[in-house]
Amino acid sequence: MSYLLYIKKQVLIEIGNSIGIHRPETGGILGCSKDGVISHFLFDYNDKSTSYKYVPSVDYLNEYMENNWYNNGITFCGMVHSHPNNAQSLSCGDLMYAKQIIESFNNLEHLYLLLTFVTEETVNIRYFKTFLNESHVIEAYQLCESEIHIIE
Ligand SMILES: [Zn+2]
Repeated sequence: MSYLLYIKKQVLIEIGNSIGIHRPETGGILGCSKDGVISHFLFDYNDKSTSYKYVPSVDYLNEYMENNWYNNGITFCGMVHSHPNNAQSLSCGDLMYAKQIIESFNNLEHLYLLLTFVTEETVNIRYFKTFLNESHVIEAYQLCESEIHIIE
């Protein structure tokens, strides 16, 4: 498995302009173009989150992808959500949810999970690649800076 990640700068800008200006535990979905680049982002305006947990509005997101992404060759490939600054890693709940998502799609080899932390000046992002190992246990690999390629 490749541990390189390619993401469009525009996606990062959109994350900053949406998740970046809301309280922690908001989120959205990521779409990949055919070449594997993370090229699309949708902020989850309808989320049912609490201050402890991002709860995606699954129906809204699925409908959006069906109407806007799939017929344009964009596939669902990841999720983004924000944590408070003192919780800078994935929670058990995040991992269990990733497992559920991977299992619910037939063709999802891995799922990108992007965690964001918002401070006064910046929106920090940590990039994880989650996948099921041979024993069907969910694993998360945190990508290093050298593995993340931001495309103009
Ligand atoms: Zn989380």
